[in-house]
Amino acid sequence: MIQRRNSRQRDIILKAVKSRCDHPTADQIYMDVRREDDRISRSTVYRNLGFLTDSGDITNVRLPSADRYDLRSDRHYHLYCIRCGRVSDAPLTYHEEFDRQTEEKTGFRINRHRTVFEGLCSQCLAETEKQKSK
Ligand SMILES: [Zn+2]
Ligand SMILES: [Zn+2]
Repeated sequence: MIQRRNSRQRDIILKAVKSRCDHPTADQIYMDVRREDDRISRSTVYRNLGFLTDSGDITNVRLPSADRYDLRSDRHYHLYCIRCGRVSDAPLTYHEEFDRQTEEKTGFRINRHRTVFEGLCSQCLAETEKQKSK
């Protein structure tokens, strides 16, 4: 019975992640999930986000502030706005050859590499320009 409840909760959490393309934080997922089931605790959500990431259903984006969760499970790079915190997908292909080359040169077994480009998103950039011209 506990097993069934667990998998139902996991489904709700997975659905919540899959329904957002803005790379939400665990807290944002928790708020979404609470609308579906107000008995799910914060720790259940956090724990299941960990399971879903380990199983490869979703991925996480590691940031100094807080990890974000990604409905995409394929490897890709991210853009991070240092002003508003927005995270978006970089329109670039993942370079598997970097992993291979590094393995060959170091003997290290590489799972993946992560790249986050930091800067200002176009909206924040426009706002900074506006302030400057005042
Ligand atoms: Zn921004
Ligand atoms: Zn992404």
